[in-house]
Amino acid sequence: MNSETVIRVAFVGNPNCGKTTLFNALTGANLKVANWPGVTVERKEGTVFYKGVKMILVDLPGIYSLTSYSIEEKVSRRCVMEDDVDVIVNVVDASSMERNLYLTLQLLELGKPVILAMNMMDVVKERGMEIDNHRLPEMLGHIPVVPVSARKRTGLNVLLHAVQHHYEEDIPERVLTYPSYLENKISMLEERLKERYPALSYLRWTAIKLLEEDDETMKEYPLDAPEILDRSYEKEIINEKYRYIEEVVEEVLFYRNSSREGRTDAVDQVLTHPVWGVPVFLGIMALVFFLTFTIGDALKGVFEYGLDFLLEGAAAFLQKIHTAPWVISLVVDGVIAGVGGILTFLPNIFILFLALGILEDSGYMARVAYVMDGIMGRVGLSGKAFLPMVLGFGCTVPAVMATRTLEKEEDRKRTIFLTPFMSCSARLPIYVLISSMFFPKYPAAAAFSLYALGLVVAILLALAAGKIKHGESAGTLLMELPEYKLPNARTIAIYVWEKVKDYLGKAGTTIFLASIVIWFVLNYGPGGMVTDVQSSFGALLGHVLVPVLMPAGLGLWQIGVALIAGLSAKEVVVSSMAVLFGISNINSAAGMSQMSGILAEYGFGPVNAYALMVFCLLYTPCMATVATIRKESNSWGFTMKMVVFQLLLAYVAAVIVFQTGSLLFH
Ligand code: GDP
Ligand code: MG
Repeated sequence: MNSETVIRVAFVGNPNCGKTTLFNALTGANLKVANWPGVTVERKEGTVFYKGVKMILVDLPGIYSLTSYSIEEKVSRRCVMEDDVDVIVNVVDASSMERNLYLTLQLLELGKPVILAMNMMDVVKERGMEIDNHRLPEMLGHIPVVPVSARKRTGLNVLLHAVQHHYEEDIPERVLTYPSYLENKISMLEERLKERYPALSYLRWTAIKLLEEDDETMKEYPLDAPEILDRSYEKEIINEKYRYIEEVVEEVLFYRNSSREGRTDAVDQVLTHPVWGVPVFLGIMALVFFLTFTIGDALKGVFEYGLDFLLEGAAAFLQKIHTAPWVISLVVDGVIAGVGGILTFLPNIFILFLALGILEDSGYMARVAYVMDGIMGRVGLSGKAFLPMVLGFGCTVPAVMATRTLEKEEDRKRTIFLTPFMSCSARLPIYVLISSMFFPKYPAAAAFSLYALGLVVAILLALAAGKIKHGESAGTLLMELPEYKLPNARTIAIYVWEKVKDYLGKAGTTIFLASIVIWFVLNYGPGGMVTDVQSSFGALLGHVLVPVLMPAGLGLWQIGVALIAGLSAKEVVVSSMAVLFGISNINSAAGMSQMSGILAEYGFGPVNAYALMVFCLLYTPCMATVATIRKESNSWGFTMKMVVFQLLLAYVAAVIVFQTGSLLFH
């Protein structure tokens, strides 16, 4: 090895096994690390010198296998198969070998030099686990196995050393021997492949992939051998790999004391139970909403007091300095009522995100996807699709972006399509307000029913779409289930603060602007400033919608205007109602009774109220979401179809709710 040598090293591993952390520790780079799968979508390169030799490290997106379904798998597979990658460093989360070794076995079949970086050794130690580092390489074709901890920065030099010494190694020994009927097929295929594609270097790999009927391989190296390739042997091949992994784990993994592991297992017996898992999830979410309402309400008082103080103070101050009455009205009735009204929901938002943060950091949320796998599989989606959907309870925008982790473009579009039905936090103020006004005895239950309805609608739509398109199942879910842990206060504080900041940011921009626009729309008409709101632009526009919204029990011009305004952001439905009905502190007891009084005059009761919430749940998401969907689907057609569909769905659902509700309760 001379100083001219450059070694190209690819980092391959499951999502969340610490590749990026390891990459950053070695190269001194500062790439984003996250405790959520699917963060590294593109490849990143960095350089490191060790004993005068230059190494180029490539950080790849996390993958569970080398099949070529998802964008990440394609990127990673193409990269490791390229000739200019000299050695693969397979980063393994040593604390969950069972899952990680599946990819390892595939990499070994590829026939390139592989070095195993057993990461998270600190966790292994902490959990009282022991790994036999002598027996493990023996069972994996004598490849180098290096224990490291990317976070504690241990073992890093040993790893670089191993890379330098083993990068030119030949094909690893065969690790896994399949049953003879498969091995026979493999060697026959290898021979045929050698004849037909003399330049092909991955013979065994390609033969196995052909037996699995892997799309990309069949396209690239077609082989006319119907007597050997009579059907897909993918299932058998996968099973053999898992059988072997079991054997490996049995031989190399020991527990000094298994109390911790035992506890996680015991908890999982209940939380991820095949039958009870879903009811438990719904129960936990119901509890979250109950807390959102009760604790949120208790904290609300402080904010209301502050808002009243601000309203009176601002009005008094502006009058004192002789500001024009229209400016006072704009500031007090428009901006403060709108933006301030939204700010009083901050405690509810805060509790919601605090609860979601705790559920996520404790390791429960990752299990929800697991629990939902059964249901999702029946509707033709993988449980993996539920991860982005869980994010949707917070905000639809990152949820839509998170669909990038999905395997097939088709699945991805279907998930994007379903995500907006997960009730986002922006819809919470609507539910809080309307439920408290019209269902004062059980507001949390009323709000929760909408979350559940969103879920049900999503599942029914997935089912309908799946039946129409094709009936194939989406395959089983393979994902890490992190160990349960006590939530970390700092992590949660950061999480909640990010969300609260977003909410405040939205109040300061979108809702601020929307409140001003609404104020102008209500105070100006075709002939200039108006004294009677009935001749304002807003009323004119709203009246056009009245006959349309009437069958849904929403035939008030103010509601028409509020719903249109809500397209900018869902909270705007609430802030604009404050402005529309001239209510200064909409989230206070006084504000609510004032508003329900006004609505009652129009004959607007609980049935209308529920129809309104259903409409808000289902109708077109906010502009930010629409823009994200456009960007992620890269299709205006798809986006517009979605927007129109949701509008129609919301309308039809609200009509059904109102009509049946009126029949039942009158
Ligand atoms: P990637 O998806 O494989 O790139 O994983 P990341 O580098 O983003 O890391 C995922 C999570 O594992 C982060 O929370 C890291 O801080 C954590 N992590 C990475 N390496 C270690 C390690 O050696 N020990 C411990 N305890 N945590 C680690
Ligand atoms: Mg990464």
